[in-house]
Amino acid sequence: MKGKSTFLLGMLLCSSLGFSSGAFAENQAASPSTKLVTLGTVAGPFPMKNRAQNSNLIVVNDQSYVFDAGDGAARRLAQAEIPLKDIGTIFVSHHHDDHTAGLATLMSVAWDSKRTEPINVYGPKGTRQLVETAVQYSNPSAILRIEDGGRSIPIQKIFRGHDAEPGLVYEDKNVKVYAAENTHFDFHKNKTEYDQSFSYRVETPDRVIAITSDTGPNPATEKLAQGADFLVAELNSVQARKQILIDSGQWDSHTPEEKERIMQQASQGHLSPKDVGELATRAKVKTVILTHLTPKFNSDDYTAEALEVRKHYNGPVIVAQDLDTFF
Ligand SMILES: [Zn+2]
Repeated sequence: MKGKSTFLLGMLLCSSLGFSSGAFAENQAASPSTKLVTLGTVAGPFPMKNRAQNSNLIVVNDQSYVFDAGDGAARRLAQAEIPLKDIGTIFVSHHHDDHTAGLATLMSVAWDSKRTEPINVYGPKGTRQLVETAVQYSNPSAILRIEDGGRSIPIQKIFRGHDAEPGLVYEDKNVKVYAAENTHFDFHKNKTEYDQSFSYRVETPDRVIAITSDTGPNPATEKLAQGADFLVAELNSVQARKQILIDSGQWDSHTPEEKERIMQQASQGHLSPKDVGELATRAKVKTVILTHLTPKFNSDDYTAEALEVRKHYNGPVIVAQDLDTFF
């Protein structure tokens, strides 16, 4: 599977639910121009041997758009032979670090590549602050590199963070990007200023791609995903989540209350294989791509989970590897 390219001839589907993929129909290319790359495919804060943290790349007419930037995103972009300097638009789904830990690196390298045009980062509330603090983090290095020679623009000049609202978040000649507020944090007892999480729908001239990101089952994500060619779905296993904590020796260090909350987060804040299958069927998507995989100790086999999805969805189901490419 690794490095596999999956070619699928899907038809542009004009949604009847308010997402205007039809607006692109007249521009539809004779041959597909949209490419999806699953840059990083593992869930959670801990670095894993074979998989980078969550990140997806969508390329349309040679323009690159990054959705989430967990740790390892910059390296995977290099492996995909995408110049970081060319990435001008980044979308963040929420502020867990398996979706943002690679952002400052990605930004710093883009600046270091002598990018002079703005780079815009969109996401839920807190995104503007995230970008400002990432700039602060990179600033000492940037000051030194300006003194080293070859760079002149202060790093603060390049980056713009945007706290987006659900709905149409971004539009240019290649993409329309819609966000729906999902239920990843609904189980939190105490709401914080960062309690907002987005699923995304990306409409291009020849494809509709829905990205659940992290969420419990909810009607807004289902509506957002209607008719998508690709449903890029997180795949969560409550049992695997508990097992890796046991196998790594962490489980016993938690209090009973902490254990209960960990299991509550795993079961209510994420999509199980059954949830993914039911979502895919109800949203009538054409292909399911499973990512944000719950890490396993000494195993990388997700066949059982994919088969569970298939019990609830009749279409193709693919367990993504890092750098898998879909057309
Ligand atoms: Zn996550």
